[in-house]
Amino acid sequence: MSKKQKTVAVHAGSRLTGSKAVPVSPAIYPAAVNWFDSSDDLDGALDGKDYAYARISAPNTTLLEEAVAALEGADACVAYASGMAALRSVFEAQGFRPGDRLVMPADGYGVTRLLYKNLCAALGVELHALLMTDARTPERIRELKPRMVLSESITNPLLRVPDLRALAKASHDVGAAFVVDATFPSPVGQRALDFGADYAVQSTSKWLNGHSDALGGTVSASAARIAPLRSARILAGDVLGPFEAWLTLRGLRTLPVRMKAHAEHAAHVARRLSDSPLLERVIYPGLPSHPDHAVAKELLNGGGPMVAFEVKGIGRPESMRFLEHLRICKPGPSLGDVCTLVMHAASASARRMTAEERAAAGIQENLIRVSVGLEDPDDIVEDLLGAVAQVVRR
Ligand code: PLP
Repeated sequence: MSKKQKTVAVHAGSRLTGSKAVPVSPAIYPAAVNWFDSSDDLDGALDGKDYAYARISAPNTTLLEEAVAALEGADACVAYASGMAALRSVFEAQGFRPGDRLVMPADGYGVTRLLYKNLCAALGVELHALLMTDARTPERIRELKPRMVLSESITNPLLRVPDLRALAKASHDVGAAFVVDATFPSPVGQRALDFGADYAVQSTSKWLNGHSDALGGTVSASAARIAPLRSARILAGDVLGPFEAWLTLRGLRTLPVRMKAHAEHAAHVARRLSDSPLLERVIYPGLPSHPDHAVAKELLNGGGPMVAFEVKGIGRPESMRFLEHLRICKPGPSLGDVCTLVMHAASASARRMTAEERAAAGIQENLIRVSVGLEDPDDIVEDLLGAVAQVVRR
């Protein structure tokens, strides 16, 4: 059949023929819609046997989900448009009813706190914010009998390391789902499912992607727990785009070697910062002075990629000026990049918490969080201490 130019413009060049080549780097499939020669195949695809419509499933997302599930040691994984979408979906999958209870970290990521606060308020669910490293917390969970318990593997921003085994045991004793946001160590630093988590959540925007060029989130769990999340995602539509999935998978290829180097650099930076008379305290789970050092040795592979410190005698204005004095490290409100990202915790990750919530969590105005990059670690230390020296009152 001969085709007019308008028809050619719409249909020509839409199928590769005659090649058996398998690309080493997977192809990017931006198609939101797929068509089939056979109506039976289309029918099957709409039942989930193949790719029909990208809100249901899409090839680049499938590849990423397979890779993350393998890294987490999980049966299955489902990917989302962001880490927050992943956290929201896990919450929604629990079937909360008015009067139910949720336990979450008092000292965790401020945006998660606000999201869960809003979701709980809308449903009449009681939110209990507890310090997950407090030795009394497992007993409190048994008393509260919540429907869900959320912990972070390494808390954001104070880098406390809860004993997931004790929290998992307490949660399971009362039938609660135990969810762990394992973004800070990544699955290389800790496989949360190995320590009793029912769900391991990642903001892939951080270490898994590793280059700050794509947002994303994942939930990994048993096949039985992932199936309802996958169905809910079709309705909610909070899917990851193909380009983001592709970039994240490319970043993930180097995750183990990157994480080893990030942790080695972080340990070096923490040791050297500890000698500075300008700092009140240096927080790093790999240092013997860290309150959870013993737990960290058992639960983390290395001391992790994050360091935090409190500068002597400064408040918010000086902390802000400190950020402007950095010459190598970047004052960016995130973590997980190949370059060092530095953040003033109270005004960034804890920004959405109230002043009272920050005080209860122990987040002070002189607290700086560092996502240690792959630059020379001595250059990182000198940049940080050089900027501190500019603002500290002597
Ligand atoms: N969980 C933690 C521990 C985080 O630090 C963040 C973001 O900073 C998130 C979840 C949210 O992830 P996203 O920004 O991909 O929505």
